[in-house]
Amino acid sequence: MYPSSFEYYAVADVKEAVDLLVEHDGSDVELLAGGHSLLPTMKSGLSSPDVIIDIADIDRLHGIEHGEQSSTVGAMTNYATAARDDVLERNTIVAEAAAEIGDVQIRNAGTVGGNIAHADPAADLPAAVLVSDATIRARSPDGERTIPASEFFEAMFTTALGEDELLVEIEIPHLSEGMASAYLKKPSPSSGYALIGVAAVLETDGEVITEARIAANGAFDHAMRLGSVEDTLTGETIDDGLSDRAAEHATDDVESYMLMEDSTASSEFRAHLLEVYTKQAIDTAIERVGSTANVSGD
Ligand SMILES: Cc1cc2nc3c(=O)[nH]c(=O)nc-3n(C[C@H](O)[C@H](O)[C@H](O)COP(=O)(O)OP(=O)(O)OC[C@H]3O[C@@H](n4cnc5c(N)ncnc54)[C@H](O)[C@@H]3O)c2cc1C
Repeated sequence: MYPSSFEYYAVADVKEAVDLLVEHDGSDVELLAGGHSLLPTMKSGLSSPDVIIDIADIDRLHGIEHGEQSSTVGAMTNYATAARDDVLERNTIVAEAAAEIGDVQIRNAGTVGGNIAHADPAADLPAAVLVSDATIRARSPDGERTIPASEFFEAMFTTALGEDELLVEIEIPHLSEGMASAYLKKPSPSSGYALIGVAAVLETDGEVITEARIAANGAFDHAMRLGSVEDTLTGETIDDGLSDRAAEHATDDVESYMLMEDSTASSEFRAHLLEVYTKQAIDTAIERVGSTANVSGD
């Protein structure tokens, strides 16, 4: 199907993009980043924007900057770039999650900012962003503001971004010494999206888990932390049965948030997958504590 006609603007800086968002307030306006969610919805008739603002040529939105304590990823950075970045790979979980997205074509086109702003419940980056305690920087006509990841994902395809806001970059704190992370995913056999994806960040003193951050993609209407699993892990001595005992609580938060159900997986199957992948993500992160993979301080 051909999309219906729209006005198209290619912009060169963030201010120009925000000015256009304001100018077209009240119309259906979309930002074009990698286009790998927007264009399929337009071609299938699910969305028909009046205005498209192409942000691909905004220099500020491209690339990754590294500091001592954190890395900052521009919104237009594609997944392949994030997945290949040595510093991101050693110090954060985001590179590992980016490497799990779709196929080569999607990883070369889709963008970190687009993935987060679109907030597809089955996308891979949101859980990684949550367990990283990342900060999202957004620009509106009122200037820039930062949004903690914990306040960013609100519902299916819904974030804390306003209609007149552009996601500029995301700041990801580095894992500190004694921390390790893992992202484990069961991909949909047809699309590659996460049927379930579990991100885990653990901090240990060698024997006891001192902090646990666990979050899931694909399970609920938006990515969210698994608080009961985190509570079960925190303060516990690592032993062979710990990940099983913790993963049993993966669906404890389901009463208020329905498990997803679609043609590829029933809610019962998703609940099962969530428990299995939660255990695997915890086990993998525990294995990595003290190894060279994904542990800061190496
Ligand atoms: C076949 C297929 C398989 C896929 N598999 C996976 C997968 O396994 N895992 C996964 O995570 N994703 C997957 N995707 C989705 C892909 O990752 C998309 O790239 C992503 O969801 C959106 O990023 P984008 O850069 O393409 O954004 P676009 O499609 O250009 O934009 C998407 C939405 O985000 C908004 N937006 C974009 N950038 C910004 C910004 N800077 N500020 C504010 N709003 C913005 C746009 O207005 C639009 O509404 C798949 C897509 C396809 C087609």
